[in-house]
Amino acid sequence: MFEKMTIEDCLSKESDLINLSLERIECIDSAVKSFITVVNKHEELEGPYKGIPIAVKDNITTKNIRTTCGSKMLENYIPPYDATCVKRLKNYGFAIVGKTNLDEFAMGSSTERSAFFVTRNPWDLDYVAGGSSGGSAAAVASGEVVAALGSDTGGSVRQPAAFCGIVGFKPTYGLVSRYGLVAFASSLDQIGPMTKSVRDAALIMEVIAGKDPMDSTTVSKKLDFLTHIEDGISGMKFAVPEEVYKYEQLDREVSDRFEEALKTAEKLGAKVSRVKIPTIKYAVATYYIIAPAEASSNLARYDGVKYGLRIEEPGLMDTYMKTRNVGFGEEVRRRIFLGTFTLSAAYYEAYFGKAQKVRKLLSDDLNRVLADFDAILTPTSPSPAFKIGSVADPLTYYLMDIFTIPANLSGLPAISVPFGFAKNLPVGLQIMGRRFDDPKVLAIARAFEKYSPYNINGRIPLPVVRI
Ligand code: GLN
Repeated sequence: MFEKMTIEDCLSKESDLINLSLERIECIDSAVKSFITVVNKHEELEGPYKGIPIAVKDNITTKNIRTTCGSKMLENYIPPYDATCVKRLKNYGFAIVGKTNLDEFAMGSSTERSAFFVTRNPWDLDYVAGGSSGGSAAAVASGEVVAALGSDTGGSVRQPAAFCGIVGFKPTYGLVSRYGLVAFASSLDQIGPMTKSVRDAALIMEVIAGKDPMDSTTVSKKLDFLTHIEDGISGMKFAVPEEVYKYEQLDREVSDRFEEALKTAEKLGAKVSRVKIPTIKYAVATYYIIAPAEASSNLARYDGVKYGLRIEEPGLMDTYMKTRNVGFGEEVRRRIFLGTFTLSAAYYEAYFGKAQKVRKLLSDDLNRVLADFDAILTPTSPSPAFKIGSVADPLTYYLMDIFTIPANLSGLPAISVPFGFAKNLPVGLQIMGRRFDDPKVLAIARAFEKYSPYNINGRIPLPVVRI
């Protein structure tokens, strides 16, 4: 059945997978709403992954295919170039069948902030798919595509992967080119794979990772993501931050699944210890100063003059203001305000300067722990997916990012792998590793995936979409 196929499954199939994907989208996407744009015409690309249908988050540029960022500002923007990772996928034969929904400019945790519509969780259509890469997560989980790309600035690959019961990987900062990823917070943004198996995530990393002359923050390290992926975790040492248990909003059932995962690790021969990482409690506050600051600067380019929406008013200032007021939604404007404020001369040192220092302290703490341990384990999100429309204030959304944000602030690789259910919705286990230890992070995730007691026929369970 196409819905359940991984990239590896596709390699031994001769069928017209692009058509199967388009048919599936036709059949269920009016209910799931993963896609902003579906691509119906396909050139035959050659390569080892020829004709394997993949989705790309709509903040990653695709040549001649509309790229909206989930915003009215770019509603009609058709990029003249492919992002580097898109170019690489094409070079390997992957077929891009569509562009997926996201919170506007990737700011959010549910796709409720998309200017267009809300993506639904394939496990229960009344619930959010997570965000900001919710469209990509839902498209993979519901079997509309075999795999997808997302972007992760504070958890946007891992959290929706956790909410939809798939694998989501944020690589070490600098491993995957950001060229063509519409910038949100450049020092935090990283593109990553969203897949039905850990091995598929590694396969995609083999394709998209590597030095790119178009992104000076990429590194020339050549990592091998697959060779040691089945090596297991026997003899490894895992750290669990005590702060996880201090977090009041931690859902009971999420906490139970997490404990089971730790037991599984011990059964497989790993040692689990509790550690103190006190700076974790400042992660959310730090992120919500740094990310909006960078965003306010990155989003200055949408001024109605260079490209994107333009609403003509008499006078340049009024044209700027009207364009940005109409083009940006509430959350984006909130972040531009916050960022402009913390970067202003009077407050720079008090907020932005301070946040940069805390960022360094947190990174030092994490690296210190990782000098003694192979990985740090936490739940991916403190709670499972919530009902669409049920969360009212921005702060509640921000606080949910507590476990995913540290990896972005410190540039570390982190993955979410499905591990059971809470309130009948999927739960993710997060594994965070040392910088450039991405292959090891994948191998650890593979062990949890392989030995999860929640598997069906040895695989991660996938939802039956009821429309
Ligand atoms: N939820 C976080 C935010 O709203 C993370 C977003 C992301 O990773 N793109 O900023």
